[in-house]
Amino acid sequence: MTTQTIRERVRFVDLQAQIATLQPGLSEAMAAVLDRGDFILGRDVGEFEREFAEYCGVSHALGVDSGFSALELILRGLGIGPGDEVITQANTFIATVSAIREAGAKPVLIDCDEQGNFDVARVEAAITPATRAVIPVHLYGRIMNINALRELTDSYRLVIIEDACQAHGAILEGARAGSFGRAAAFSFYPGKNLGAFGDGGMIVTDDADLARILNSLRNYGQGTSKYVHERDPLNRRLDTLQAAILRVKLPHLDDWNDRRRRAADAYREALRGLPVGLPADGGDGRHVYHLFAIDIDRRDEVRDALAAESIESGIHYPVPCHLQPTFADLGLGPGSFPVSERHAERTLSLPMYPELPMEGVHRVADVLRRLMAS
Ligand SMILES: *Cc1c(COP(=O)(O)O)cnc(C)c1O
Repeated sequence: MTTQTIRERVRFVDLQAQIATLQPGLSEAMAAVLDRGDFILGRDVGEFEREFAEYCGVSHALGVDSGFSALELILRGLGIGPGDEVITQANTFIATVSAIREAGAKPVLIDCDEQGNFDVARVEAAITPATRAVIPVHLYGRIMNINALRELTDSYRLVIIEDACQAHGAILEGARAGSFGRAAAFSFYPGKNLGAFGDGGMIVTDDADLARILNSLRNYGQGTSKYVHERDPLNRRLDTLQAAILRVKLPHLDDWNDRRRRAADAYREALRGLPVGLPADGGDGRHVYHLFAIDIDRRDEVRDALAAESIESGIHYPVPCHLQPTFADLGLGPGSFPVSERHAERTLSLPMYPELPMEGVHRVADVLRRLMAS
């Protein structure tokens, strides 16, 4: 019998690794909610909203039940709906586009740039008299160049809504993701840089009027009197239990993001000289690497080779939004956005989470080096 070293699996993300380091704080925080019994819009929701707003450098934060709801409610809160158009990128997670449709507006998609980032240069051609807002996505936790976009949206009087669902804590010129637009949406889906133990989301804004409207919209459109409903009666609240968990996690976010950046640096170092497109290091901005997505030939073959070495990987995203069956009504067939389509065929997300062992980075690099040489 041959002896073979069974190598440990390199996980794509490992949520349990983080949970263990946060005990007993997590259990205590949850137990305190059970003792108080304030499960809906309880104390931890208000506290977490204050803490998260301060972290982002904005004056208001409103907990909601998902990143999708955050986007949709911002649009509704701004009065954007039927007859209006909202511009976003074709290569994003489906929620960015579906939130626009759910609010009743028309999603107008644009192609991304060569790195898969929001392409400010393509916005102007997509503007029509019906355009009300632009939703740039800080995709993969890469802070996008908001300054160039702002010049354009100012001159056309359009609102910027940031999709910061992958970018908790990312920084551009000293300011956090979420503090640039009229409002921003965050997701606390468990795998995000700041994740709950279920669904959750947050809206942040400096606009006090909008915050007041959103506070009502997430809670059955209730105004200041109980059981008097002034607006769309939706239920989009963040659970107190999730807020209690997120309060335990938030103080660690910057450290976790530093670790993600160190892993990204290690990947860049280990993959140097190989024919793969690597994400830039952020320059003036600080990316938070929700994902470490590379651009590579023979992507599916590479993915199989990694799997054969017990290394997990992901594809974000295999089908751009304009080619999703659910958006067939947009009438955008193959060839509409060639850069996004090529990106979808070539992008590969490597293992990335704060506790990722450096050995994992080197095992990934070994496989890629071997394949690229063949
Ligand atoms: C996760 C995500 C969302 C939606 O968040 P949910 O909490 O899953 O609804 C929206 N946009 C982007 C870019 C995301 O990654």
